[in-house]
Amino acid sequence: MNIFDVYPLFNITPVRALGSRVWDEKGQEYLDLYGGHAVISIGHSHPHYVQVISEQLSRMGFYSNSVQIPQQQVLANLLGKLSGYDDFSLFLCNSGAEANENAFKLASFHTGRTQIISFKKSFHGRTSLAVAATDDPKIIAPVNENPNITFLPLNDIDALVNAMNDNTSAVICEGIQGVGGINVPTPEFLQAVRQECDKHGAILILDEVQSGYGRSGKFFAHQHSGITPDIITIAKGMGNGFPVAGVMIHPKFTAKHGMLGTTFGGNYLACAASIAVLEVLESEHLILNAATVGNYLMSELQTVPGVRQVRGQGLMIGIELTIPCAPIRSKLLYEYHIFTGSSSEAHTIRLLPSLALSKEDADEFLAAFRDVMGAV
Ligand code: PLP
Repeated sequence: MNIFDVYPLFNITPVRALGSRVWDEKGQEYLDLYGGHAVISIGHSHPHYVQVISEQLSRMGFYSNSVQIPQQQVLANLLGKLSGYDDFSLFLCNSGAEANENAFKLASFHTGRTQIISFKKSFHGRTSLAVAATDDPKIIAPVNENPNITFLPLNDIDALVNAMNDNTSAVICEGIQGVGGINVPTPEFLQAVRQECDKHGAILILDEVQSGYGRSGKFFAHQHSGITPDIITIAKGMGNGFPVAGVMIHPKFTAKHGMLGTTFGGNYLACAASIAVLEVLESEHLILNAATVGNYLMSELQTVPGVRQVRGQGLMIGIELTIPCAPIRSKLLYEYHIFTGSSSEAHTIRLLPSLALSKEDADEFLAAFRDVMGAV
């Protein structure tokens, strides 16, 4: 049987990884500034993480009776403490798309409505929201086939005010748009979204699947804007590679038995991985590191010739070039052994390294990037 061929691949197979480094089968070392689409939050194979997962595995195997697991409460307590949302509730599931589907369901249960507002260039996973309005030709989807969804330009308060009405069930917005090329919602915009949701009784969903878990230099990217969403969706960096996701739910929602559910969500290993991630984020001050190293990288990148704009917050960085980024990324990978990411914008490189990225690692990348950009 073949693998269904939906992913474009580089001809490199990583076989080992530690911190911000990965090695291929020939022993070649790479600096990883992409972390498997923002998944690697505390660094590859972090010793505390490996130990906690291994101990859990040796006790319970892959047993997954998620509803009976006391570690879910331990995880919820720690997540509440670190994120500042200790009055919210947590529903655990397996992927970002599933978290968003559950968020839409919750919004619809609560409002009795079906209309959803999303933003152009957003990406919320392979959900009923289709693929949102990405221009990426690689992501072919029935955009706007769903009549319940309206896509508005990001940061356009007038368009938002005009589009919202008392049929709006939810507005969903990424903390920072990732796949769409690293676009940051302004604080004024997010505050206006909050205000309009309150005015019309709609639910504000913040998709922090990519931008959350400290990546922006705060636990959640929307916390730079001082707003409180009704629902926050999380995944990716939550498990540092272990598939786990969650829906954080405002106390105004009342849970009912059978309302949401999933077979594997919040299983023993997922909880062990997620708890270990939060412990390391806290003990190694990685959110502060993301802010410090991220600010440094962003200010240095702005000085490189051929860079049109640097966008982002913390260690979620988009480098828009004056030229297409594919050949630059290839040179960085094959000549300098540095992994970077792309986006749906052909000119924009996406950096999503481990939050433990050191200044020395950042300098290694900057030197290589200057070289490559100087040679074009
Ligand atoms: N939401 C955002 C903002 C994402 O970036 C992604 C994945 O890239 C998803 C949702 C979907 O997550 P998953 O691939 O785990 O379903």
